[in-house]
Amino acid sequence: MEKEQLILQSVQEYNILPLTSACDANCVFCSHRDNPPEVEVVRIPFRTIEEVERTVSFLNEKRTIYIGESATKIIEGEPFTHPQWEKILRMVRSKFPRTLISITTNGRHINEHKAALLRSLEPLEMNFSLNSASVQGRQKLMGESIDQARKSILGAELLSRYGVTFHGSIVAMPHLVGWKDVEDTVVYLDRMGAKTIRIFMPGFSRLAPAELRFDPAVLHERLALFVKKVSYRIDCPVVLEPPYIRDLTPVVAGVIKDSPAHHGGLKQNDLVISVNEFYPRSRVEAWQKLQQSGKIEVMVKRNGEDLKLAWENLKGTKAGVVMNFDFAPQRAEEIIKNMGKNRGKQVLILCSTFAHDILKAVLRLFLEDCRGISLYPVINRFFGGSIGAAGLLTVGDFLKAWEDYCLNGFLPQVIFLPREAFDYQGRDLVGNGFWQLEERTGAKVEVT
Ligand code: SF4
Repeated sequence: MEKEQLILQSVQEYNILPLTSACDANCVFCSHRDNPPEVEVVRIPFRTIEEVERTVSFLNEKRTIYIGESATKIIEGEPFTHPQWEKILRMVRSKFPRTLISITTNGRHINEHKAALLRSLEPLEMNFSLNSASVQGRQKLMGESIDQARKSILGAELLSRYGVTFHGSIVAMPHLVGWKDVEDTVVYLDRMGAKTIRIFMPGFSRLAPAELRFDPAVLHERLALFVKKVSYRIDCPVVLEPPYIRDLTPVVAGVIKDSPAHHGGLKQNDLVISVNEFYPRSRVEAWQKLQQSGKIEVMVKRNGEDLKLAWENLKGTKAGVVMNFDFAPQRAEEIIKNMGKNRGKQVLILCSTFAHDILKAVLRLFLEDCRGISLYPVINRFFGGSIGAAGLLTVGDFLKAWEDYCLNGFLPQVIFLPREAFDYQGRDLVGNGFWQLEERTGAKVEVT
């Protein structure tokens, strides 16, 4: 029953179509390795055509349809391991002829037939988790045989040859494969025509073996520097996730080649001042405005000079602007609105360590009066290691953070928690409900 509800939540809330949790790779960085045993995850077998068909009708044709991703407790798998993948893709395409389909793959199954078929199913884009463009790298990171690694790496060439739009991604583990391998992989993806390249910080839990560990602060900083340097060498936009940013300044991280924004003259590092006379308050807000259909007039600052650029976004096409994700203004407004309801009370906002600096900037920008409001970063003790994302925090972590905060002598009346940490029933990854925090602290808890 829970499985069905999670599948429905994936489809309705995130426009993700789950097919299977099966994956035939064995990545050292896989988020399902080295988890504490209490973690409640949901594994789904190959869903039948009938089961998939029943949920397809809940997809939103106006949003991108995602396959091979997960935003819930469902473990995401490799979609091309599904024996009926072709039938399913054709079915989705026939029901939604014009909706963009985005498929995430580890690249092990790409062959001429698939590349040709994927091209015929446009609009479609692939997210290729290449991780390494060397045989040794794929062996080390993804546990592949020499033959399989060669085949997987060739997948990018096939996508390129058949004109399939694709983005590349790399979980960067220079401590295992060396910096040169990471750099060569970026260069290879660029040469193959990837539209964008995402470099992910790996994560490790307290149960991970010693060889997978690293200093997260040091690696994050070095990766940020690496991205900056490599971006000068290649045309393809490269972004780091989580981004190494501390503020909301709307700086362009990159521009996709031959996109409307590219033809309009927008460049990496341009600071967006206004879009159609609207002054964006964050990167996300600037990005959203730059995607609008129709004529775009943008004022940017480049090397200290103000420039006016213009282009047109045809309906259904993207501007091609890449920006680091800071904070969605809609969410900021929602949080501020909820705070308004608690005016005059002592409010404690508990957030992930990753989000702390950005959230601080959001509160400064969106709130006129910050009195009575405290922001406190929550250390992930449950997973431990380098884990810092909000989605992996537990009620136990929030409780410990509240105890630490109260040592200062303050007792909050309201506690705000990030919604990423909870499922549709308000339970965390180990099954504890947010209301348990209310019971323990006596404060009112808002999940927002
Ligand atoms: S491809 Fe993804 S799901 Fe499969 S093992 Fe690697 S990280 Fe895990």
